[in-house]
Amino acid sequence: MEMEISVYNDIWMDNAVENFYRLIEDSEEELEINLNKTEFTLGNVDKEDLGSLLSDIIQENRNNLIVMDKDKKTGEIKEIKKDFVLIQEGKKIDGIVAFKENIYTESEKSVKEILDLMEKDGKKTCVLCGKTFSKPFKKMQQATYPFVTKIKSLSGIRTYKDGTFYAFKEYHDSFCPTCYLIGILEWLDDRVIYRTFPGDRTFLFLPYFDNFEDLAEFKGGYEPLLNKSERYSNIRVNIGENKTEGTPGKFSTLLCFYDKFLFDIENTNIIGGDWAIIEVPFGSVKNVKLRLLNLTDSTLGLMKEFIEDTESRIYTELIKEIYFFIDNPKGAPVDWDLTRKIQEKLSEYFLINDFTHFARMLLPKKGGRVGYSSGTRKNLENLIYVWRLKEMGIPKESLNSIKGVGNIIAKVSRNNLSILYKLDKTKRIEDFWSVLREVSRKLVGLDLEKAKVRPTALDELIQLIKEDESQWKEIRDLLIVYASMYYAIGSRGGKKNE
Ligand SMILES: [Zn+2]
Repeated sequence: MEMEISVYNDIWMDNAVENFYRLIEDSEEELEINLNKTEFTLGNVDKEDLGSLLSDIIQENRNNLIVMDKDKKTGEIKEIKKDFVLIQEGKKIDGIVAFKENIYTESEKSVKEILDLMEKDGKKTCVLCGKTFSKPFKKMQQATYPFVTKIKSLSGIRTYKDGTFYAFKEYHDSFCPTCYLIGILEWLDDRVIYRTFPGDRTFLFLPYFDNFEDLAEFKGGYEPLLNKSERYSNIRVNIGENKTEGTPGKFSTLLCFYDKFLFDIENTNIIGGDWAIIEVPFGSVKNVKLRLLNLTDSTLGLMKEFIEDTESRIYTELIKEIYFFIDNPKGAPVDWDLTRKIQEKLSEYFLINDFTHFARMLLPKKGGRVGYSSGTRKNLENLIYVWRLKEMGIPKESLNSIKGVGNIIAKVSRNNLSILYKLDKTKRIEDFWSVLREVSRKLVGLDLEKAKVRPTALDELIQLIKEDESQWKEIRDLLIVYASMYYAIGSRGGKKNE
C-alpha cells in the first residue's frame, strides 16, 4: 500500500505528520519514505509489514505518554499517565496504565483495522484532510485532535456542505482513518515541550511552520534539550543530564527553551518563532485553550545577539536571578510567590518586546524591592544595551546622563517612593518635565558626597530630551530601570550573591 499526506496547515496535524515520518525513519526499516516541503509519502509497502512495524513503534514509544513513579501507599513502582495526555484511562492493571484507546493497548489489532479501512474509498469527506473515505475508525475526539471542542471559536476546522455548516454529529463522524492514525500518534512525539503545574494546568508548546522540512529540521535540532521521562517539565537543565527546569510559567518556559537552544545547539539554520501554546487544565473535564505566539525576527535576533555578545543566558543567568526581597529584617528575605510572578512577567514582556512593562516590573513595591547580584546587574545592563540603547542610537555619554539621573532618583526615593511612582505614571511630556523639576528640588536636600550622585547629569538629560522630544517615553522607561537598579544596589536585597 501507499500513503500520501499533504501539509494540513494545522498545528496539531502537521506536527503529527512530521512525528509519524520521524518514528518510521527512526525505526531504520528500509522503506520508501519521504517528507518534503508539502508532502509526506510512503510507497510500495506490504500492508502487513507496515502494520507490524507500526504496532512495534507504538509499543516501543508508549513510554512517552507515561512516567514511572512510586505508589505512595505500597511503595511499588507504577506507571502514571502524564497529566496532559488527553487519552482517557481505565483502571490500572498491575501498575500499568490502561489507555481507553485501543491503538495503545491492542496495537496490532487496531493498526490492522485502520490500515484496512484506509484502503477503502467511499463517499464520506474528511473534515480535516478533505479526502474521501468509506468508514471512520473512530469519531473525532480530543485524544486524536485536542482542538475539538464545543467552543466554536476554538474548533478551527469548520467546513461547509451545501452552503451550511456541517452538523455537529456529522462533523465528528467525518474523520478519516488516516487522520485518526496520524492524530492519535502525535502523543508519541517527544519534541513537544511541556510544563505542568501539579493540580493546576499544563502548557504544551508545539512549533509551527508553513512547511514540513523546516518543522522537521527545527524539531530535530532541539530534541537533545528535552527529557521525556520527567513528569512536570521536559527542558533539561543541562544537555546530557536528566534534571529539568522548574520554570514559573509559560513565557519563562519558552524563554528558557531559547536560552538552551541558542546556547547549546550548534549548526542551527532554522530557528522557529511561531508557537502554539496549548493549555490543558487539571481535572477530568479538559477544555483546552489555544494561544498562538509569534515571536518577531527582532526578538529572535535580540536573543541571539545577547547570547553571542555576553555568552550569558537571558532566562537562567538574568531573569531567574531576579528576586523580590521583603523589607522585614527578621522574616524570610525572599517573597517566592512574587518572585516567580515577576520572573514570569519579565519573560513575557521580553518575548513580546514590551520594554515599558518590563521596566515597570523592576520597580520597588510596597514592603520590599526587586534585587539581584552584581553579575546579574551586569547582564541586565547588557540586555538593555542591545534591546534599547543600540536601537535608539543613544551614544555612550548620553547613557551616562540617563544613568546619572537614575541614580539621583534612586537616592531621593530612599525614604519616599512617590517620585518613582510618579515617574512611572507619566503619560504626557508635561508631566515628565514636572517630575524632573521635582527631582531637581529634592536634590537640594541631599548630602551629595554621601549619596555619590552627579547633579550635572540632570542638566545633561534635559538637554538630551530637548534635542529629540519624541524619545521621552523611551528615556522615561530607561530612567525607571536604572533608578530601580540603583535603588536595589543600595539595599540589602542588592547584596545577595555578591
Ligand atoms: Zn482525513
